[in-house]
Amino acid sequence: MRRIWMVFAVLCLLCTSCTPQAPLTQSFLALDTACSVKLYGGATEARLRMAVSTVEEYERLWSRTVPQSDIARLNAAEGEAVALAEETSALLETASAWMQETDGAFDITVAPYKELWETASAVPSEDVLREAGQRVGAEKLLSSPWRLADGASLDLGAIAKGAVADKLCERLKADGCTGALIDLGGNITALGRKPDGSPFHVAIADPRDTSKTLLTVAVTDVTLSTSGSYQRFYELEGRRYSHILDPKTGHPVENDLLAVTVIAPCGADADALSTACFVMGFDKGKALIDSLDGIEAVFVKTDGAAVPTDGVPFC
Ligand code: AMP
Ligand code: MG
Repeated sequence: MRRIWMVFAVLCLLCTSCTPQAPLTQSFLALDTACSVKLYGGATEARLRMAVSTVEEYERLWSRTVPQSDIARLNAAEGEAVALAEETSALLETASAWMQETDGAFDITVAPYKELWETASAVPSEDVLREAGQRVGAEKLLSSPWRLADGASLDLGAIAKGAVADKLCERLKADGCTGALIDLGGNITALGRKPDGSPFHVAIADPRDTSKTLLTVAVTDVTLSTSGSYQRFYELEGRRYSHILDPKTGHPVENDLLAVTVIAPCGADADALSTACFVMGFDKGKALIDSLDGIEAVFVKTDGAAVPTDGVPFC
């Protein structure tokens, strides 16, 4: 039985009422979640089909559960190097940089911990977590060529949705699309502008009641990535545990945050950072975002207070 539960409707799109022309829209399941693409300027059925097949193409490349994906082959290679697509190599570079920059709060080698929590029927013991921890850590991921040491394995769940959105935006722009909203499981990317030249309005939901809006931002050419324990969780022994794991202990994160939304021009950066900030907690997470140019965030603390960084583009 699957032990991970999902709650959708993390971020809501508030656009249709203010656009003269309804977007061409396609909803679909991919990347283990609910996705949708809305095309505004330059919308055609062919572009919509291209958008869906692009998401599916990158899922086949980066999902660890698709048997012949680059990540599945790397995980199964027992320390040997495997030939990877250029895009995979570039994504591993980006992920490695954020692993360093976040002092290991974001760590794509958490897969052994994730497998434990995913398949457990009871909370894993410290001994079991310690054993799995021997296969976790940035030093297990070796480059030039990429390979994995000591039985390690990768999971790109904290960065892939943002990276797929980046790839889709590249293709849509090159194809002449001037405005689109892409929702990959609550990670929202706004490409360009609405046909009247105005930015897109995106609502950030209240993690305590996702039918309510916490605040709304006006955005163009950014991704909003949200990480929180309310979105997906493991249910064990009658309790919910966050699907975001502390790579230093293997335990699900439990701190002073309910959720973090990061707003950044690069989707992969937004995605990696929202996961990292959620692990780091409010003080360290906010200090990290404050130190990064052009990247903003909204932190929602456990008491429900929303704390935005200085440059959040409120409507
Ligand atoms: P996100 O929803 O972007 O915060 O990503 C969460 C997903 O990334 C989880 O479902 C795991 O697959 C994986 N993950 C969990 N904890 C971490 C972590 N500390 N660093 C990187 N990936 C993680
Ligand atoms: Mg993430």
